[in-house]
Amino acid sequence: MRILVDLDGVIGDIDKAFIEVWKERYPDAPAPEPGTRKEFYIGHEFGDDAGEKAYDIFREKGFFRHTPLMPDAKDALQKMITAGHEVYIVTSAGNDIPYAASDKYQWIDNNFGREWVDRLVITRSKHVVSGDVLIDDKPEVKNHDKANWEHIIFDASYNRHIKNKRRLGWSNWKEVLFP
Ligand SMILES: [Mg+2]
Repeated sequence: MRILVDLDGVIGDIDKAFIEVWKERYPDAPAPEPGTRKEFYIGHEFGDDAGEKAYDIFREKGFFRHTPLMPDAKDALQKMITAGHEVYIVTSAGNDIPYAASDKYQWIDNNFGREWVDRLVITRSKHVVSGDVLIDDKPEVKNHDKANWEHIIFDASYNRHIKNKRRLGWSNWKEVLFP
């Protein structure tokens, strides 16, 4: 099986990274607790000008490089490889977020090792990448109807309204992928 895995919110704990910077920079502004937000785009959670402030954090050099690993994600991906599956990390890097691509390259190298950089696909058009499944926390992946993969939702507080897709976490990935 060829398994495509999203990075932010799936193998990288972007919420943890973001909220830490946010609280440090805007100590008086409201900040959600990790694992509770209802909006997929984290800046939308705070309203008014918070979206722009959030974007400024994403645009900073090194932000994505310092994202902590999601618990059990690395173990799961390594087990997929050991079991003979092809695994690719498919992640987007916004054209207005200049360091995202290089930071993510570094992040894979630092957390998974150099050979995993060959498994990195950076694109905002995930539908053009071929695979059997895409594990992604985004409620609706753009152009998913044109893709040949099945979107499996990576469970998060902001995608629980999606009921028509298989749902997976790193504690039950084997049962969901191979029922
Ligand atoms: Mg994501």
